[in-house]
Amino acid sequence: MNFHIMTLFPDMIKAGLSDSIIGRACDQGIILVEASNIRDFAFNKHSKVDDYTYGGGAGMLMQAEPVYLCYKNITENIAKRRGVPDGKVSPRVVYMTPQGRLFDQKMAAEFSECEDLIILCGHYEGIDERVIDEIVTDQVSVGDYVLTGGEIPAMIVVDAVSRLVPGVLSNSDSPEYESFTDGLLEYPQYTRPEVWHDRTVPAILLSGDHAKVDKWRHEMSLERTKQRRPDLYERYISRK
Ligand code: SAM
Repeated sequence: MNFHIMTLFPDMIKAGLSDSIIGRACDQGIILVEASNIRDFAFNKHSKVDDYTYGGGAGMLMQAEPVYLCYKNITENIAKRRGVPDGKVSPRVVYMTPQGRLFDQKMAAEFSECEDLIILCGHYEGIDERVIDEIVTDQVSVGDYVLTGGEIPAMIVVDAVSRLVPGVLSNSDSPEYESFTDGLLEYPQYTRPEVWHDRTVPAILLSGDHAKVDKWRHEMSLERTKQRRPDLYERYISRK
């Protein structure tokens, strides 16, 4: 799977995604994360990409044209790679914005089916609405708060989506039983030693009885979800 990030700060993306599981998946060629600098498409004397907003108001807005030219460059390269002669491809383009749909595991699973995913990061006050209307297919938020830029949200999306791409996680790290996969939060987990600071591992986990362990884990998942995320619990119960 190929991620194409449109950003004014490509070094943030490179620094944030070059280690650990995602970094290894890139090194192995299972995923590709390419950060394009929108500033490279600002064809003016000072490589300026922002301007004042019409109608007044605080802050600067990213201009439409450099964003559009950056997008065109990415899609032309995708078309070349796919061998599409007229250069016309229409991959999903995700704009990271606090005004978007809240990102969740279901959306991550949907995005993980894409061959190419373009992610647009805003900065300053955001981006001229006209280019959003023209190229964006999905507007996505990582939470009800405002960050300085879309780079951290984009990295959240790349991380969550990549984990679902076959081969990125080893079998033992399978996402199958994790929080949200079946609509519940995950049960508590323990590793060695059996006793730590006078706290013991629940006896059932040492019993070797797999059926009982599974039952206990499911009950703990239910209890934890009910306590911590009553919204998820209600949805899970109503689906049963
Ligand atoms: N003026 C915008 C508004 O009120 O909706 C906020 C702009 S924000 C300071 C700058 C950029 O950060 C946005 O264009 C977006 O790309 C990114 N951003 C900020 N908060 C975000 C969030 N919760 N989810 C996704 N992206 C976010």
